[in-house]
Amino acid sequence: MEININNLTKKFGTTTAVNDLSMTVESGKLVALLGPSGCGKTTLLNMISGIIPSTTGQILFDGKDVTNLPPDRRGVGMVFQNYALYPHMTVLENICFPLEIKKIPKKERRERAMELAKLVHIEDFVKRKPAQLSGGQQQRVAIARALAKNPDILLLDEPLSNLDAKLRIEMREEIRRIQRDTNVTTIFVTHDQEEASSIADSVALFKLGEIQQYESPNELYDNPANAFVADFLGAPPINKLYGVVKNRKFVLADESMTLDLEIPHSVEDGKQVLLAFRAETIRMNPEKVSTSATVKEIYTLGRDKLAIFNLGTKLVRGYVGEDIELAIGERVQVGFKQKGIFLFDAETGVRYF
Ligand code: ATP
Repeated sequence: MEININNLTKKFGTTTAVNDLSMTVESGKLVALLGPSGCGKTTLLNMISGIIPSTTGQILFDGKDVTNLPPDRRGVGMVFQNYALYPHMTVLENICFPLEIKKIPKKERRERAMELAKLVHIEDFVKRKPAQLSGGQQQRVAIARALAKNPDILLLDEPLSNLDAKLRIEMREEIRRIQRDTNVTTIFVTHDQEEASSIADSVALFKLGEIQQYESPNELYDNPANAFVADFLGAPPINKLYGVVKNRKFVLADESMTLDLEIPHSVEDGKQVLLAFRAETIRMNPEKVSTSATVKEIYTLGRDKLAIFNLGTKLVRGYVGEDIELAIGERVQVGFKQKGIFLFDAETGVRYF
């Protein structure tokens, strides 16, 4: 089912939680709503489910206006951060519950619940109570229960935030698998950029109730619309150097380093800019744009080597190949791969290249 959101706004008193937001979620896709705390992700999700009314704007499911429909008439399944399982019921009873409300005959609903238990790989635990399950198992039950009504849309609000790091990775892959198996249009709220990028077809990155960019994870990473997007995505975080444009060169704010980047003429001399580049963009002994740097620190991360360099007075991170020998304190020439180096207006975050 396709979701269209048109000029949706939600105000809580003087706070605008969602501001004139429009987006389309294509049928059968998994979309992540990503952004820092308080940027309006949950509010948008709750308006889509119908739990909270919008202030203005419109929500359409496959072209049908559902803006004023109550939650139980929207055909939406919800999974919450705390799972919200019924503690006194067994796993099977929990999964069956939405079907009981719909007055589906007992035999049929048990069959359907078992099918779902198998889908989420919880079939060996159906007689247990939620308290006798691990966090990951409880999460599976919550997903099965949300799918019981055969929803057209599945909404997940920070579903993995109560799990430990290893289980989070396992469960996010499970969510992707279940979503592909059922082909249900899914919206997933998270503040974890890696989680969003790893499983979503598209990511909508939010800031203060507005979408900054809504595209595939690769596009957000490789082609950020502005400085906020570039900064939000990537681990380690993107390197940021503030400076000024002089004679089409980038000059670090304290003038301790200059880079000849052939900055376009459209960026006027004297403009305050932010130069940002990812750790994997650094090249050792490059032929083009380069500057000297000092190796401050070297970390071995599995197969990769991450070095900290002094560029002028600033520290930046760069990945270096396994085969490159570096010593702490060594002076080296570093440069940048063109793709992955960005220049922004320091004040507005608008991207020049
Ligand atoms: P988090 O990741 O912390 O859950 P979020 O991106 O989901 O954050 P929302 O919960 O949607 O953000 O909140 C968006 C803004 O709306 C915040 O400023 C929040 O304080 C405000 N807000 C949310 N719900 C209410 C409410 N019921 N009454 C008043 N303000 C609210």
